[in-house]
Amino acid sequence: MNFEQLHLIAPILDALREEGYTSPTPIQQQAIPLVLQGHDLLGCAQTGTGKTAAFSVPILQLLHQRPRAASRAIRALILTPTRELAIQIDESIAAYGRHTGLRHAVIFGGVSQKPQTDALAKGCDILTATPGRLLDLIQQGLITLQHIEIFVLDEADRMLDMGFIHDVRKVISKLPMRRQSLFFSATMPPEIMQLADAILTKPQKVAVTPPSTTVEAIRQSLYFVEKSDKRALLLHLIRQHDIPSALVFTRTKHGADRVAKDLVRAGIKAEAIHGNKSQNARQRALTNFKSGETRILVATDIAARGIDVDKLSHVINYEIPNIPETYVHRIGRTGRAGAAGTAFSFCDMEERAYIRDIHKLIAIQIPVVHDHPFAAEAPVEASPLLTVAARPQPKLQTNAPQSDIQWQVPSKGRRKKKWYGTRKAV
Ligand code: AMP
Repeated sequence: MNFEQLHLIAPILDALREEGYTSPTPIQQQAIPLVLQGHDLLGCAQTGTGKTAAFSVPILQLLHQRPRAASRAIRALILTPTRELAIQIDESIAAYGRHTGLRHAVIFGGVSQKPQTDALAKGCDILTATPGRLLDLIQQGLITLQHIEIFVLDEADRMLDMGFIHDVRKVISKLPMRRQSLFFSATMPPEIMQLADAILTKPQKVAVTPPSTTVEAIRQSLYFVEKSDKRALLLHLIRQHDIPSALVFTRTKHGADRVAKDLVRAGIKAEAIHGNKSQNARQRALTNFKSGETRILVATDIAARGIDVDKLSHVINYEIPNIPETYVHRIGRTGRAGAAGTAFSFCDMEERAYIRDIHKLIAIQIPVVHDHPFAAEAPVEASPLLTVAARPQPKLQTNAPQSDIQWQVPSKGRRKKKWYGTRKAV
């Protein structure tokens, strides 16, 4: 399928061509025609599937084709949880809409509102916003949502995780009843379905990856390691695999700073990105990483949400997330748009319960790499462990043939701290 078959108008087709897109991704194939027909949409899709274009392209087309009701009216609102994601969506709208003449703006908290309100004063057809700043500007009388024709709620599950659900409901209460609504979430737990019910009218449903499954193109490996050896293991893997660029996840802001500092001390260009850094510092770190100037970006989950880096080869879970869905979100940063990606996860003693939850969620066991210099003892579990040697791994699929994988039951009571490759698979 190509974009022409989706009945897109020339200014948008030209822009997509200029972006280098040749064919629509599955979510785009499904969503674009439905949105163009005016349906409400319930989309189950992760970042990395092309969902931004799936909603922004038809919005641009619909607004381009319709007359403006009022010259300064905001006609489409995209609500998204983080500043990074908001900026990225606005950049995408700028790119896809560059030949449409439509105006767009982005607002988010943590920075002065003046440049944002100045941009709004010039007129804005499509506004991308985070909930807090949007409500703030509405309260100040600087924004009205009464002319919104199309509303997008992006990353709804993340809004819930981040405690924004109350703000989201407040924003929704300010929208006109007559509107088209598009709702996207990577997962669809019951609270999210309730929220969707409250927002959408007879929605069409599209889903590209069933909720809670791992992106198939990503090679995943698990390293059991003592907490104190994680730093050495990270350096070892960066060097051993000659990793060109990696996003390293930590659970805490302090942890992100520490890991970045250690890497820099070891002569590897690294920066940390998290909520304590100023917006400018975060943007700068992101730009450096995208340009390749910084090799390793260390991030907390919230800061990393929506980071979109083409050709990110590796994601490293320096710490295992305690929410299993976060694992899926994290590793989804690599392996984008069909590219191969690799995800390493470092698991210490205290994190083993988290790994069990992740295995349950993704319905596969992440292959364990034993053959590395910092291997700590694999957990003694009632169920067998799936283990592989440290060599190129097969592409993982839930139902893929796993010929190089062997099932092992570690001997009970074994308490040796480390071993060195003694438990290789065939
Ligand atoms: P998203 O899921 O919207 O964050 O998009 C993930 C990445 O895929 C972004 O880098 C987009 O620029 C890219 N992308 C989106 N649609 C296409 C397409 N049809 N062809 C190639 N790349 C795309």
